[in-house]
Amino acid sequence: MTLKLDINPIKAWMPNIDNPLLISGPCSLETEEQTMETARLLAKDKRVFVFRGGVWKPRTRPGSFEGVGSIGLKWLQQVKEETGLPVGTEVANAQHTEEALKAGLDVLWIGARSTASPFVVQEIADVVKGSDAVVMIKNPVNPDVQLWMGAVERIHQAGIKNIVGIHRGFTPFRETKYRNYPNWKTFIELKRLLPNLPVICDPSHIAGTREYLFEISQKAFDMGMEGLMLESHRDPSCALSDAGQQLTPADLGKLLDKLVIRYENA
Ligand code: PEP
Ligand code: MN
Repeated sequence: MTLKLDINPIKAWMPNIDNPLLISGPCSLETEEQTMETARLLAKDKRVFVFRGGVWKPRTRPGSFEGVGSIGLKWLQQVKEETGLPVGTEVANAQHTEEALKAGLDVLWIGARSTASPFVVQEIADVVKGSDAVVMIKNPVNPDVQLWMGAVERIHQAGIKNIVGIHRGFTPFRETKYRNYPNWKTFIELKRLLPNLPVICDPSHIAGTREYLFEISQKAFDMGMEGLMLESHRDPSCALSDAGQQLTPADLGKLLDKLVIRYENA
């Protein structure tokens, strides 16, 4: 069954966008300096439209860096003030969502492990209700298109029209050289079910290592996706999370230079 939900195209909330939608920034915000320096470098590349930074980082297993927490929201506000870039972070419960909206963040995204839980998605939907935030919904960790679609519907039922899907790959259920298996069939199925949902790709979390970022990014455009979320860090070798997949802003620029971008919604 195809559902024509009343979802805005990206251009509706980002009128000046010269497609595709490119989102970049660190996996995790670590310090004010790391945040600001990465943002300043990214802002020089006029192709980056949104700055991302994780502040709450619930990791798959406890014991690794779990984010700087609410203080990071202040740094995101500073990025917005100084560079003019819209800013976004991941929210995983009602409290995160309240704080992020209060801090004036433009983009909230629901992480893959959260999308897998309709309880969590509903909790977030109840808080974003009535706001004009952009809500991006990553695929669930398992290739279950109904769960992904259900999350989109819950956010849409809360009155949000600025919704974007993010394909970030699935916990490997077959052999793959990537960290997460990019089951493109699930994206195709989602687009069949929700034809007007803009979907972008997160090659960083699919790849897990820098060497595969280009091929996945190119494939995303070849498949008709409308943008990319790529992690970047002023010095990836020192990153406290996802060090192997983050790019310096300069290397991000080089990757973008090489991409052949063709898709229909530009
Ligand atoms: C992230 O974007 O930093 C993240 C944790 O992503 P995912 O939900 O795709 O694992
Ligand atoms: Mn990450």
